Amino acid sequence: MLTIGCHLSSSKGYLAMGQTAVSIGANTFQFFTRNPRGGNAKAIDEDDVKDYLAYAREHGISRILAHAPYTLNGCSAGEAVRDFAFRTMKDDLNRLEYTPGICYNFHPGSHVGQGIETGISHISRMLNTVLTPELHTTVLLETMAGKGSEVGGRFEELREIIDRTELSGKMGVCLDTCHVWDGGYDIVNHLDEVLAEFDRVIGLDRLKAVHLNDSKNPLGARKDRHAKIGEGQIGLEALVRVVNHPALKHLPFYLETPNELDGYAKEIALMREHAE
Ligand code: FE
Ligand code: FE
Ligand code: ZN
Repeated sequence: MLTIGCHLSSSKGYLAMGQTAVSIGANTFQFFTRNPRGGNAKAIDEDDVKDYLAYAREHGISRILAHAPYTLNGCSAGEAVRDFAFRTMKDDLNRLEYTPGICYNFHPGSHVGQGIETGISHISRMLNTVLTPELHTTVLLETMAGKGSEVGGRFEELREIIDRTELSGKMGVCLDTCHVWDGGYDIVNHLDEVLAEFDRVIGLDRLKAVHLNDSKNPLGARKDRHAKIGEGQIGLEALVRVVNHPALKHLPFYLETPNELDGYAKEIALMREHAE
């Protein structure tokens, strides 16, 4: 059975997210660890986590994905911004120990003119600072559209970050369909070849999650504007091939499309209808 969900608000806690997921036909979900623009996270409510875990078991919810705030930029030129990123990631990882086995996805960041090489060395330094052998979370690098000075628009850049991370066994990748398309990987006409390249450069065993989004822009646009499923330049047919691809179909899929809950419910139903 297809594991699919969408991005949900975490403001009411874990149990509320689980209940919302079930109400829209999802069996997984993604959430921000804190306000997407940064700031302090609410304290973990241990009773809420316990209630959620029981509810999730009962309703078949699994493989939920935590997403770091967008403001987290571990390769900024400013030391204060990098420091905030280090501390935020460390704090997030501590909090995620309440839900062991979870994945934690983050945007590698923007090097803001320092160059890819410097960006990559900052990011791997952050990972080497915050990762410890005791952690029960897998940290995912998201494939990016390559907008502005974003790091992670090429598979090679993600591979380089993983290679320079000492505890690389804790690292994985989340493939965002809008981002790779915008980054120039033609998943519409050459999905097999793109996945073969991913496998050659990074290794498909590193791929732990897929962000399922259509794109408002053409191949290689480097824009990162998500569209509803079937209303963008990738299109429904290509996204159906993504969820049914033998190298991907076992993975969890998360919608990050511009929708309210009813729109997400429709897209989840649509993808389930086409899942083989
Ligand atoms: Fe993201
Ligand atoms: Fe994404
Ligand atoms: Zn995006």
